[in-house]
Amino acid sequence: MGGNITVANGSVEMQVADLDASKLRINLSQTLKDIPAKETLSFGQTMTDHMLMMTFDPVYGWSSPEIKPYGPISVDPAGSCFQYSTNVFEGMKAYVGPDGKPRLFRPKMNMERLARSASRVALPPFSTDELLKLVKKLVSVESRWIPVAKGYSLYVRPTIIGTKPALAVGPSDHAILYVICSPTGPWVRSGQKAISLYAVDEHVRSWPGGTGGFKLALNYAPTLMPQAVAQKLGYDQCLWLLGEDKKVTEVGAMNFFVVVQREDGGWDVITPPLDGTILPGVTRDSTLKLLAAHPSKSVLPGLSDSDKLHPQELQMTMADLRKLAEEGRLLEAFGVGTAAIVTAVARIGFEGKDINLPTHESGMGPVAQALYDRIIDIQMGRFEWEGWSVVCE
Ligand SMILES: *Cc1c(COP(=O)(O)O)cnc(C)c1O
Repeated sequence: MGGNITVANGSVEMQVADLDASKLRINLSQTLKDIPAKETLSFGQTMTDHMLMMTFDPVYGWSSPEIKPYGPISVDPAGSCFQYSTNVFEGMKAYVGPDGKPRLFRPKMNMERLARSASRVALPPFSTDELLKLVKKLVSVESRWIPVAKGYSLYVRPTIIGTKPALAVGPSDHAILYVICSPTGPWVRSGQKAISLYAVDEHVRSWPGGTGGFKLALNYAPTLMPQAVAQKLGYDQCLWLLGEDKKVTEVGAMNFFVVVQREDGGWDVITPPLDGTILPGVTRDSTLKLLAAHPSKSVLPGLSDSDKLHPQELQMTMADLRKLAEEGRLLEAFGVGTAAIVTAVARIGFEGKDINLPTHESGMGPVAQALYDRIIDIQMGRFEWEGWSVVCE
């Protein structure tokens, strides 16, 4: 607390103030908004009453953080964020537990990923522990906004923007770090509907040595046009491919998994390895850990203890997927991420043909369903697992 961080100011290294949660000022809104009925919520449309905000300047360092009424912020038109996309963000969710207390899911992972993203675009460093204390405080202040129902939560969006008001291309030594919140319901309104994917190889989301492994805003703008094309062709999301051999990477802004029948009767549950082109998702990591724990701890509901699951981080090509599908061994495909948690895939369009997955009544296969149910239970504090659900006091 009250510590310093070292930042480069030109060629000079300087000691400036780190983030300090003990300096938080809280300025509550005089007029609180009406909370919309939860059935009417669509993702990211409604913002809560307050936001958390702090600024960085190269002489002082991080300002005292403030929780204040939600509203516009003022940034110079020459600001680095507008000109050179020095913007990074996180996505996390808060739930109300059976004890009535708000909680976050593995929030340290988000704080650490935010710091790595900031570093990748030369934004200033900050104490991830101090930021987590502040995020917890914001969630506590906004707890009346957390809808209490399965599939509902408060989406929390930490953001850092570079605000150096100068046009020369260079690191932004001014920044604003803010956190906003938005109540949200199930990703797909109609429940857990399986989605269709359009496999894209003429545009790439990420590449070796690129920035796909970081949550940088600049990774998303180039995905919007291919996504619109996919929708026009009748598909819900893009399946991003990479390279001559058409390696499968991610689906939309989710990590991709497939379930494959093994010769020995078990199931391989495969996702691409973190080689720099894949976003290291919190849900991806949680999925791999839950799969590895089953069946010795019977952690996945609805799957029998004799179902042998083999989590694997392996590269897969479209040729692999097509072959597995032809052999009848491609049992499930699904995307995982904070927003939707688990989304089943029903078909994948590739080179003018569809790969169809076995359809399931619920829209989800047994592995996707088990993961979805268990992850929600852990997030809502109904199933204690490895301290993943963290109470905000
Ligand atoms: C955010 C994101 C994910 C999912 O990460 P989580 O931490 O699980 O929310 C996956 N892929 C991309 C490209 C993302 O931006």
